[in-house]
Amino acid sequence: MQAPAALTGLQTAVLALGDRAYPDFCAFGRQLAAWLAQSGAQPLAPPLQADCAEATALAAWQALLERLGAAGGVQLSSAPMLLPWRLVQRHWINQGSPGAPLYRLRLTPPAPEAWQAGDLLEVQPRGGRGALRRYTIASIDAEGHAELLVRQLRGPGGEPGLGSFWLTEGLPLRAAIAGRVIANPGFHAPPDDRPLILLGNGSGMAGLRAHLSQRVARGQHRNWLLFGERSRAHDFHGGAEIEQWRRRGCLARLDLAFSREAPCQRYVQHALAECEGECRAWLRDGACLYVCGGQRGMAPAVHGQLEEWLGAPALAAMAAEGRYRRDVY
Ligand SMILES: Cc1cc2nc3c(=O)[nH]c(=O)nc-3n(C[C@H](O)[C@H](O)[C@H](O)COP(=O)(O)OP(=O)(O)OC[C@H]3O[C@@H](n4cnc5c(N)ncnc54)[C@H](O)[C@@H]3O)c2cc1C
Repeated sequence: MQAPAALTGLQTAVLALGDRAYPDFCAFGRQLAAWLAQSGAQPLAPPLQADCAEATALAAWQALLERLGAAGGVQLSSAPMLLPWRLVQRHWINQGSPGAPLYRLRLTPPAPEAWQAGDLLEVQPRGGRGALRRYTIASIDAEGHAELLVRQLRGPGGEPGLGSFWLTEGLPLRAAIAGRVIANPGFHAPPDDRPLILLGNGSGMAGLRAHLSQRVARGQHRNWLLFGERSRAHDFHGGAEIEQWRRRGCLARLDLAFSREAPCQRYVQHALAECEGECRAWLRDGACLYVCGGQRGMAPAVHGQLEEWLGAPALAAMAAEGRYRRDVY
């Protein structure tokens, strides 16, 4: 590289690997790109610089190689490929709620992507500087985008959670974020048309909504939704769509529990407890029971109620048969 070479007509691309802890970040890669340009080579893209194998740069490199015809994608790590998804919409959907802010995000994949209700989107916050975070996808792939419900989470000292605050405040609209769909077969739909009882709270509406959308699209209408949150006015996420499904006959039964509304604190497990007869009838009819949302509070309380009614062995048998599934976090 002391002098230019005769490279006119050659198309080139440079992926520079480096570490920002060093003052001259990706110096060799940049020198190489400059020398190629001086030598008459035609760059296909500006040089990409990856800080400690940063996922966004690697995803952009993968996309470039695929545009050039690399068959079946190029795997730069042992995990499924991270691709540059784009944040196209973000709304704070529970303004006025006593609960922590909850956002609905819409992300589009770089190319059509397939997933099933129950699957997750794994994203890398802060352009590769944070560990991967998983979120249940609230939409179905036929909608063409992944919708997420992301709750801002704070640590014990009030410090903002890295992933949730990055997604809801840090990441600019239209920006790319490295992401991939993670199959979650333990929360996939039943293989047949059997009735479905969907139970959950808070951001757990994501998984419930994905299943309802998929069932509505398939013409499967024996659905029962039990959902709990703080207040109807601020926290009935996607309420208009759900009410519409109910009116159209796509949702056989809807029970809501809002804990901050008079006359008493009522949670989703209380709504369930009031429906023992109907719940047993649905289960006798072969229904599956899906729970999505809070690991603390809701999921153990619902589990306890079911155990009380059915007995631990019967509930364990339902889980083993895939009739009792949970996506709790
Ligand atoms: C299957 C599943 C589905 C989920 N779906 C949703 C959803 O739909 N909506 C929603 O709001 N949240 C969902 N979550 C929770 C979400 O993944 C995050 O945990 C949450 O957003 C808080 O992350 P944070 O980075 O803001 O908080 P932080 O406090 O920064 O981190 C929270 C958690 O992330 C993990 N973590 C933190 N740092 C690291 C690290 N360096 N390496 C590895 N792990 C680390 C730890 O488990 C920690 O407890 C889901 C989680 C799982 C497992």
